[in-house]
Amino acid sequence: MKNKSIKYYSTNGNSPEVSFGDALLKGLAPDGGLYLPDALPLLSTDELKKFSDNEYYETAFHVLNNLIGSEINETDLISICRDAYRFEVPLEMVTERKFIMRLDRGPTASFKDFAARMMSRLMQFFSAMNNEHLTILTATSGDTGSAVASAFHGLGNISVIILYPRDEVTPMQRKQMTTLHGNVNVIAVDGKFDDCQKLVKQAFMDPLLSHIRLSSANSINIGRLLPQSVYYFHAWAKLSGSTSDKVIFSVPSGNFGNLMGGLIASKMGLPVKKFVISTNDNNEVPEFLHTGIYESITPSINCISSAMNVGHPSNLARIVAIYGGSMDENGLIKHKPDFNKMSEELFGLSINENETRLALAEVYNNYKIMLEPHGAVAWAGLDKFIKSQGAEGTDNQLYIALETAHPAKFPEEIRKIINQEPALPLSLSGLNDKDEKYTVLENSYSMIRDYILNNC
Ligand SMILES: *Cc1c(COP(=O)(O)O)cnc(C)c1O
Repeated sequence: MKNKSIKYYSTNGNSPEVSFGDALLKGLAPDGGLYLPDALPLLSTDELKKFSDNEYYETAFHVLNNLIGSEINETDLISICRDAYRFEVPLEMVTERKFIMRLDRGPTASFKDFAARMMSRLMQFFSAMNNEHLTILTATSGDTGSAVASAFHGLGNISVIILYPRDEVTPMQRKQMTTLHGNVNVIAVDGKFDDCQKLVKQAFMDPLLSHIRLSSANSINIGRLLPQSVYYFHAWAKLSGSTSDKVIFSVPSGNFGNLMGGLIASKMGLPVKKFVISTNDNNEVPEFLHTGIYESITPSINCISSAMNVGHPSNLARIVAIYGGSMDENGLIKHKPDFNKMSEELFGLSINENETRLALAEVYNNYKIMLEPHGAVAWAGLDKFIKSQGAEGTDNQLYIALETAHPAKFPEEIRKIINQEPALPLSLSGLNDKDEKYTVLENSYSMIRDYILNNC
C-alpha cells in the first residue's frame, strides 16, 4: 500500500513545499521556518491493534511507510528500521494501569537515539540517491553530540565532525564521542559551547566550503520527529490489551520534539486522551497553555533535569501550527492557535527541583524502580495531573510516563537522592578501556575551516 506523497510546508509560510527527502537534507526551510507534513495518513484502530505482536522495528516500518513510503521502497525502509532499532523498549508496570516506558536502552542510553539513528540512516539513503557525500557538522555541549556521533558512526558516504567545548563536557560524554573513530571526527575547541556554535554557523555560511554538502543534523530536522511518533504507537499497542481505551502520556519536555512525535501519532489516529506536558522550572509552555501569553525564559533556569533547561523551545512553532496558529522563530504569535482544542488535548504543568527529587525517591522506595531526573519529572507530572483531576485510585485509565535517559548517566544526583549506585548499561561500560582520538584546536575559524577541508 502506497499513500500519495505527503508534502512538507514551512511554518513561516514563505517557502515552497518540498518532499520529505528534501526537507530532511535541508533541515531548516529557506524562510527560517520549520517543516511539517501538510497531511497525515489516518490508521484505523484495527490496524493499530495489530502492532501488539510486532517487534519495535516492525511498528517503526509500518508507521514510517505510511509517512514516507512514496519516497523510499519497502525493502530499503525495513532494513533501515531493523538496523536502527536493535534494542529493547521496555514497558515497566508500576501499578496495574500505570506504566513507565523506558526509552533509555539505545547505544547512548538516551531517548535521542530513537530520532538520531533513524534520521542518520534516512540521510544516508537520500544523499546516496542524489550521489552526494554528506558531512555532518555539529556543535555539542555533551549529550546530543554522542547520540549524533553514535548514530552516524560507520555509515558509508557520510563524515561527521563534532565540536565540543574542551573543558565543559564530562569524561563520559567525551569518551562516548572520541572512542568511535572511523568516520567520526571530534574537535575539542579551546572555548565555550557558544563559541562552538558560532564556529559551526560560520562554516555553514562560508563560500570557501560551499562545494562541501554540509548538514547540521540538528534537533529541528523533521527527520527526527517522525521516528519519535513510533514509540507512542508501540506503547499503546502493547498495553491497551483487548480494549481500545484512550491513553494518557506524560512527556518530560524541553525542546518539545518528543511531544511533537506524540502529536503526530495522535493525529494519525492513535487513541490518546491527553498529553501531560511535564517541564522543570522552565515553565514557559505550561504558562502559555494556561494564559495564552507566551514569554520565553532567558537565560534558561538550571535544573537537575539538565536536558530540559530550555527557555524557548525550538519546536513550539510546530505545536502552534498543528493547532492552526502561527509563531515565528522569536516566539511572536502571528496568528492565534485554537486554545480550546489545545487545552482539551494538552495539560501543561511544571515540576520543581524538590518535587523531582521526591518523585525519584518515592518510585525507588515504593516500587524499586530507578528513574533519573528527566523521568522523575514525567512521573511527578503524571501524579500531579491525576491529583488535579481528583481521579486518584478511582479510575481504570491507562497512564504511561516516559523515561528518557538511563540512570547511569546521572550517578551524582541519584547518589545524593537515594544513596544508590546505578548499574552501568553495556552501552556505557568499557569506555575507559578504549582508545580516545580527538584534535584540540584554538577557538579560531580559519583552523576549523582547514580541518574541515582536510577531513571531508
Ligand atoms: C532531550 C531530552 C529531553 C527533552 O526532550 P525534547 O524533545 O527536547 O522535549 C528529555 N530528557 C532527556 C534525557 C533528553 O536528553
